[in-house]
Amino acid sequence: MEKVHILGRDDHLRKAPVDPATLVHRQLLGGDFWRKIPAYRDVDEATFLDHKWQSKHTITRPDKLLDVVQELVTPGFISDAREGFHRAPMAVRVSPYLLSLIDWSRPYEDPLRRQFITLGSLLRPDHPKLDLDSLHEQADAPVPGLTHRYPDKALFLALDTCPVYCRFCTRSYAVGTDTDQVEKVHMSPTMDRWERAFAYIASRPELEDIVISGGDSYNLRAEHITLIGNRLLDMPNVRRMRFATKGPAVMPQKILTDDAWFSALVGVVERGRTMAKEVVLHTHFNHPTELTEITKRAMDRLFSAGVTVRNQSVLQRGVNDDPETMRMLIKRMSYLNVHAYYVYVHDLVKGVEDLRTTVGTAIELEKQVRGLTAGFNTPTFVVDAPGGGGKRDVHSFEHYNPVTGVSVYRSPNVNPEAFYCYFDPIELLPEEGQRRWAEPAQHDVMLTEAIAAARARVR
Ligand SMILES: *Cc1c(COP(=O)(O)O)cnc(C)c1O
Ligand code: SF4
Repeated sequence: MEKVHILGRDDHLRKAPVDPATLVHRQLLGGDFWRKIPAYRDVDEATFLDHKWQSKHTITRPDKLLDVVQELVTPGFISDAREGFHRAPMAVRVSPYLLSLIDWSRPYEDPLRRQFITLGSLLRPDHPKLDLDSLHEQADAPVPGLTHRYPDKALFLALDTCPVYCRFCTRSYAVGTDTDQVEKVHMSPTMDRWERAFAYIASRPELEDIVISGGDSYNLRAEHITLIGNRLLDMPNVRRMRFATKGPAVMPQKILTDDAWFSALVGVVERGRTMAKEVVLHTHFNHPTELTEITKRAMDRLFSAGVTVRNQSVLQRGVNDDPETMRMLIKRMSYLNVHAYYVYVHDLVKGVEDLRTTVGTAIELEKQVRGLTAGFNTPTFVVDAPGGGGKRDVHSFEHYNPVTGVSVYRSPNVNPEAFYCYFDPIELLPEEGQRRWAEPAQHDVMLTEAIAAARARVR
C-alpha cells in the first residue's frame, strides 16, 4: 500500500489499530479465584461477595493467617512471618479478598504480601531522621483528630479502625490495635470528640474542604456517614468533602452488598449536589492486581449512582515502583472511572524502610506515565513533607542531593519561612551517601549543607 504522509508528522506517530489482546489493563481477574485458597475451596460466589462474610473472615491474628496459608507456603516463610508480626508497628488485618489475590507460590515477591504482611528477614533499620508522627498531624491538631494545616481544608480523623491494616500506614501512631512495638493514640468514634471537631470547622469561615478519614470511612456505620455528611453540608462555609477509604481496594464487596452503607453515601452525595456542594470518595489502590471483575462491578455501581472516585497511591519498592506496573495501575483505574489523583512518595514510617523509594525514582516514574492517558487520570507525584510542610510536587524541591538522599522543599502556603527535608532510604544511596549516614556526626552536617544550598537558591 502506498504510504500517506501527514504534514509535519513522522511515520512512527501514525497509529495502526492495536491488537485488542494487548490491552491487558482490561483483562480483569474474574471467576472464583478465591477457591485456590484451601480454606475458601467451598465458598460460592454469593458468599464471597457478601461483605459480612468478608468482615467475619477477615484475619486479625497471625496464627490464623498462618493456618489459612500453611499448605501453600514453606515452613521457612511461616517462621519469617511470625518474626515479622512480632516486630511490626501495625496490627494484622487481612481480608479474604486480599488473601486470595496474593500469589502464594511467590510470597516474597508478591506486591500484596509486601503491603500487608511483614517478614522479619526483610526488615531494615529505620532512617535516623524518622519519628512516629512524621507528618506532625498531632502537632497541627486544634482538637483531637482534626488536623488544620492548609488554609482552606482540614483532615477529620473520624475513627481509628480500618477494614484491613497496611504495614506502611502513615498513621501507625493511631490506627489499629496496640502491637508489641507501639501503644497507639486512640481516636475512637465518639460523638463528644466529633462535636468538638464540628464546632471547630463551623467556627472557621475559611474552611471549605473537609477530608473524612481515619482510620477508614468503610468502618463508619451507615448512620454515621449520614450524620457526618449532613452536619458538614449544613455548614455554610463547607463547599467540598471527601470520604476517604481503602475499602474498594481491599473489600469491594461492601459497595455491592452493604446497601445501607452504599445508600448512606449516595444520600450525602445527592444532597450535596442539590446544595451545589461536592461530595466524593477517595480511595487507595496501589497495584493493578487489586482491581478485579468484582472491583469493576463496585466501581460501575458507584459511577452509575453519580459518585466520583479519586485515587491516592503510595509509591512502594517492589510494589509499584517500576514504569510497567505504574502504567498498568493508571490505565486500569482509568478504565474503571477512578481518577488517579496522587502518588505519594512513601512517608517516613516506622518498620517499612524496605518499602520506601527515592525522590529520584518518583521523578523518573512521573516522566514515564505522563502522556499515557487523560491528564485528569495522570497522578501528581508528591512528597508529604516531614514536619508538617504538606504535599509538595516531587519536582519542586529547592535542593536535592541524590548522594545523601536529602531533598529540601518549601511550602509557602503552610509556612513561608520553613525548609522541609525528606530523606531517601539509606540502602538505595550510592556508597558515599551510605558511608556518611553510618557516621552519626555527619547527620546534622548533611542536613545543614542541604538547607544552606536550598537557602542560597531561594535568596
Ligand atoms: C492531604 C491533606 C489534605 C488534603 O489535601 P489535598 O492536596 O487537597 O488532597 C488536607 N489536610 C491534610 C492535613 C492533609 O494531609
Ligand atoms: S487503610 Fe489507610 S489508614 Fe488504614 S491502615 Fe491502611 S493506610 Fe492506614
